[in-house]
Amino acid sequence: MALKGTNQEFGRPYNRRIVLEAIRQYGPIARGDIAGRVGLTVQTVSNITRELEDQDFILGTRNAPRTRGYPATSLSINPDGAYAIGLNITPVGIDAGLMNLAGEIVAAQSRGRDCLTPTRAFAEIRSIVAEFRAIKRDKRIMGIGLAMPGPFDIESMSFVGPTTLQGWKDVPIQQELSDIAGCPAFIEMDHAAAAMGERLYGAGREFKDYYYLFFSMGLGGCMVYDGLPVRGSFNNAGEIGHIPVVPNGEPCPCGNSGCLERYVSLEALERRSAIIGVEGWLTEAAPLFRSAIATIENLFDPQTIIIGGLTGTDIPQRLLTMAEPLSNSVSSRRNRSAPRIIFSTAGHDAALRGAASLAISGALTPRFGMMFRQDETGNPRDPVFDRGAAA
Ligand SMILES: [Zn+2]
Repeated sequence: MALKGTNQEFGRPYNRRIVLEAIRQYGPIARGDIAGRVGLTVQTVSNITRELEDQDFILGTRNAPRTRGYPATSLSINPDGAYAIGLNITPVGIDAGLMNLAGEIVAAQSRGRDCLTPTRAFAEIRSIVAEFRAIKRDKRIMGIGLAMPGPFDIESMSFVGPTTLQGWKDVPIQQELSDIAGCPAFIEMDHAAAAMGERLYGAGREFKDYYYLFFSMGLGGCMVYDGLPVRGSFNNAGEIGHIPVVPNGEPCPCGNSGCLERYVSLEALERRSAIIGVEGWLTEAAPLFRSAIATIENLFDPQTIIIGGLTGTDIPQRLLTMAEPLSNSVSSRRNRSAPRIIFSTAGHDAALRGAASLAISGALTPRFGMMFRQDETGNPRDPVFDRGAAA
């Protein structure tokens, strides 16, 4: 997993989140072991952990000395040290969770389809935030993170059609959220947030290079390479649902026709099963799903494909069964250690947990703003993408 710090001074805020993340993943852990894992000096790690301890983000426990000298201190996350709010707005409603520093959802709320106009949604989010604050009255809420369908800022594709949120174009979402919650707000595309949630808390912990397929109202995906989501030059990589697969096929709100998500998505399932039943839809969608899998594998050569999203695993499992045997691709190797396709274990909450994690990271490293977003507009690039500096 790419959990590497940088010894350059500008990387200090970045290192705080790397050290905190290492403690969450591997704690209780001694300072020297953190240094070894993230490639920082023990001195740098000590400075950071002192700061994190002062801020109550982590707890230190003195171990009995094994030999003469100072006892080593084991550091672990203080789950109650701070919280973040994760939100996932989808075409079917709003899911919200209050997440502690250990990544556990300690309170959850959801609202239905009728709450999706921006005005109504912000009113609901205001009441959700008030409820969460009442539950942890004296605790710090570091940030609020929102996962929502993308892509962003593409005239023909953003906020159009049944797989996106309509009426949200030009809404200053980040500003509104920040005002409502009284803390920094962060926004990410749902499939990238879910890929991150899966990496931190689910099946993605076992892999370094995997493709995360997000089966939602639409169909999105995200290649996680060396532990980090690949975001593209403009952060919109992963709109696999708009790959044209059927010449002269179903018209798509994006302006093209025959896009994959017109056939393989929850939206397609709802629309087609009303006419031909679920079995009929499975039969219709399976060949396209099979070829999508081969396309993903040939493009990215992942260790595995993890399927998650809003469906639970039942529908994707049935689709996979129907699509088997899979087509040949660069992934049909004999010496595989993992199946070509596995299913999410972070589940339904992956996107909102990913969004809440983004808020924690973003709040810890304000200079870089986003957890895995490259900023094209002047802020320094996150050194996580600068492999030279991070080595
Ligand atoms: Zn399309």
